[in-house]
Amino acid sequence: MSVFPTVCPFCGAGCRLGLRVEDGRVTGLEYLSDHPVALGALCSKGNAALEVLNHPDRLRQPLVREGNGWKEVGWEQALTMLASRLDDIRQNHGGPALAFLASAKATNEENYLFQKLARLLGSPHVDHCARLCHSPSVVGLSRAFGSGAMTNPIPDLAHSRCILILGSNFAENHPVVSRWVCEAKDRGGVVFVADPRRTPTAALADRYLPIRPGTDVALLNGMMRAILDEGLADWEFIRHRTVGFEEWRASLQGSTVEEHAAIAGVSPADIVAVARAYARAEASAIIYCMGVTQHTVGTDNVEACANLALLCGQIGRPGAGILPLRGQNNVQGACDMGALAEFLPGYAPVADPQARRRIAQAWGREDLPEGPGLSVVEIMHAAHEGRIRGMVVMGENPAVSDPATTETVAALGRLEFLVVQDLFLTETARLAHLVLPAACWAEKSGSYTNTERRVQWSEKVVDPPGEARPDLWIIGEMGRRLGVWGSVPTAGETLAEVARVVPAYGGITAERLRNTPAGLFWPCPNSSHPGTPILYRERFNTADGRGRFCPVTYQMPGEQPGAEFPLWMTTGRVTVHYNSGAMTRRAPSLSRYAPEVWVALHPQDTERLGLADGDEVEVRTPRGQVTARVQISQEVQPGQVFLPFHFPGVNTLTRPDLDRDARIPAYKVAACALEKGG
Ligand code: SF4
Repeated sequence: MSVFPTVCPFCGAGCRLGLRVEDGRVTGLEYLSDHPVALGALCSKGNAALEVLNHPDRLRQPLVREGNGWKEVGWEQALTMLASRLDDIRQNHGGPALAFLASAKATNEENYLFQKLARLLGSPHVDHCARLCHSPSVVGLSRAFGSGAMTNPIPDLAHSRCILILGSNFAENHPVVSRWVCEAKDRGGVVFVADPRRTPTAALADRYLPIRPGTDVALLNGMMRAILDEGLADWEFIRHRTVGFEEWRASLQGSTVEEHAAIAGVSPADIVAVARAYARAEASAIIYCMGVTQHTVGTDNVEACANLALLCGQIGRPGAGILPLRGQNNVQGACDMGALAEFLPGYAPVADPQARRRIAQAWGREDLPEGPGLSVVEIMHAAHEGRIRGMVVMGENPAVSDPATTETVAALGRLEFLVVQDLFLTETARLAHLVLPAACWAEKSGSYTNTERRVQWSEKVVDPPGEARPDLWIIGEMGRRLGVWGSVPTAGETLAEVARVVPAYGGITAERLRNTPAGLFWPCPNSSHPGTPILYRERFNTADGRGRFCPVTYQMPGEQPGAEFPLWMTTGRVTVHYNSGAMTRRAPSLSRYAPEVWVALHPQDTERLGLADGDEVEVRTPRGQVTARVQISQEVQPGQVFLPFHFPGVNTLTRPDLDRDARIPAYKVAACALEKGG
């Protein structure tokens, strides 16, 4: 019996877990107590990882659609068909008629090769579901600090004396983070949670602020107004390390804490108390998640967080920083690798001809397709209109995870050719012309970058089932047959190319990662560099080294409750599920705790509507409806409802309206109605 360390295939915390292997089969998990984030602990999802690995429904053979069913074929036939269909579309309609959805669950190397293939085939339209969770973090934090990433490691939270948590329910969604927040509390730190929902994370708070949905900017501007009024700003930091302060201050001129508090729906005294604690603490941190980003004002929300940190100089030190918690195990890495419509590897802007040519030359070309390309939601609109004709989807499930999924499903159904690489016959794969069986995390080697910027290597432990293959091999073969490159690279060779193209990964190699179980933090520019756990100690990653204040004013959510749709609706995650549920809904030890869609309502609303716990209701928005079971809950406020988004149908309800900068849809706020009987 041997034990192999791997990286958990679920959330962005990036816990390592050991796999016990006997006779070529994985027979159990081992807890790795030396991992700096998890310290050997795994949450319910990590503990259920083997149920996904060994699941009987794993795809084992390529499948070609035949009438209403599927025909199993060999790889030769599948790849010949794939190359010929993609090439036909490219020859007849040009590269931009193809779109590529990469995956925040696939390795860095797979994402790098995938976006490279898209761009070398002439399409700028490559994106992935980071668009749907943290694209405002990429855009907003890049604008303010120069890098769209978390500033401090998770265990560093233990050094924080004040932690402000906005729109994050990490107690359920990134459970290992709770350990470090509790550690900070044990050392005398104070914790504030602002969220419309009184989540299990709010139970950790010294003070909970039940803000109205979509009012984060009002809350943060109110705090900053109070900090200015009370003379608590860090003038030295502002003078030496920032630009844009006066223009930003002018944007708050004339407003009062009371006005901001009235919009946010909390008391001015609460705002002042949180502002004082945040500004005065020796080290303060902000943790946020999709409650902040999934709005038409997601970028504004992120920039307001950045303004607060700059105003108080709460960044660039142990315990002081901004920690956006990324959802999937490699969402940070997939962004770093350039699997985004507006960024090439290393966040080189597609719109910048010089940046484009630099990467093109590294790939042996003169130039690459101009961009930015279309984002996830825009790709679906284009498919609906016939401008996108062929699509390659690697490990994503947009038929469940996109907003207003009725339109997404219709758009996918209009494609001339859809190919899906995945572990299971997902809701999206069922719409494909060709389905390719992919290897999962334990069946392939490669690196993952967790939410902290910690790059970790995960070694292949067992063979994939049947004829399933690693995504890297599938992409490599696709490119080889389309004449894009001559041979299929290994993960190590691909990471070596990443190191040449992406300066922040310049010192990160497969060999180094294999010998560094705790991983390396980017930026790690050369082979002797130890990595950078804390960003911006001396300077920001901007041209002049200074952080930028960005004026942000409150905008109302684009949809408000009214006569026909009288309730606020919000969606989110729960402990036992992950993303579209493609993996966790199949894991019996998880799905038995949450087998079907529910809608949480406050007791005042259930009484008013004559509903009892467990009743079946139809939840409707202007875009769609879904049947759900009523769950009476004190977590939601009167007039608000909550649904978990891991189930098919829930996202028929959500809004496809986009943030103007980050192009994230406004998942988090909608108006809905309920009707008994479903
Ligand atoms: Fe896996 Fe995240 Fe749970 Fe850690 S916290 S075990 S990475 S799902």
